[in-house]
Amino acid sequence: MEIRPCNITMADYHHTAGNEKNAEEIRQEHMGLPNYWGDIGYNLVVLTDGTIEWGRDIKYSGAHDPGPAPDGSGYTMNQRAFAIVCIGNFDEKEMSEAQYQGLLKSALWAHDKFKLSLGDHHRHKDQYATKCPGDKFPWGRLMSNLKKEVEGDDEKVLLENVVVYYTAKDQSSADLYADEFKCLMTCRNGAATTLPEAMAARRLFNIGGPKLGHPNEIYLSGEKAKHTAKNAADWLVANTI
Ligand SMILES: [Zn+2]
Repeated sequence: MEIRPCNITMADYHHTAGNEKNAEEIRQEHMGLPNYWGDIGYNLVVLTDGTIEWGRDIKYSGAHDPGPAPDGSGYTMNQRAFAIVCIGNFDEKEMSEAQYQGLLKSALWAHDKFKLSLGDHHRHKDQYATKCPGDKFPWGRLMSNLKKEVEGDDEKVLLENVVVYYTAKDQSSADLYADEFKCLMTCRNGAATTLPEAMAARRLFNIGGPKLGHPNEIYLSGEKAKHTAKNAADWLVANTI
């Protein structure tokens, strides 16, 4: 199995379209004919009674969705996404309430663990030619419950300062700010947007990359990483003791 070549920035949702008992039964299917995979392809399995079981260790790429990651990173969903599968066929039947609660719990866990935004949750069929996870998969309900939970969190925590840097090249500059202001630091991995909690902060330092449109944004990006580093160092020297 491939060691995952990048960090997890998305969640990907599936159904098994079968009636397996548990993660172990799916593991046996995936490791047997015709696949001979090294392990179960998914990371988390939600059983029909809502029980959540671990699948493949996240340090390895998954085997669930070779579709391209919609973040333009060039990685596949197997490499980029945390895979949650619900046992059952949701083209044919509705999901039970117990299983839905297990699914919601799994989605919330992944959302917090991997610091996802609402737009980072995708169904298998969103980027691959498949019907998975089925037309009756409770996607609308899941997204609306997730939104409610996440926005509730935003109201509770309002950050004073946050440092958003663009790529690993800008990290050493960002470190200076995180150290100075003892604040959250987050990398946007070349993306145009960042975490909702960063956008809700009172002041945002943007280190590298285009403007984010935050109402109190200190914009320190330069043409190249070295210019960004100079802007960032100059601002700190001029504005702090
Ligand atoms: Zn799938």
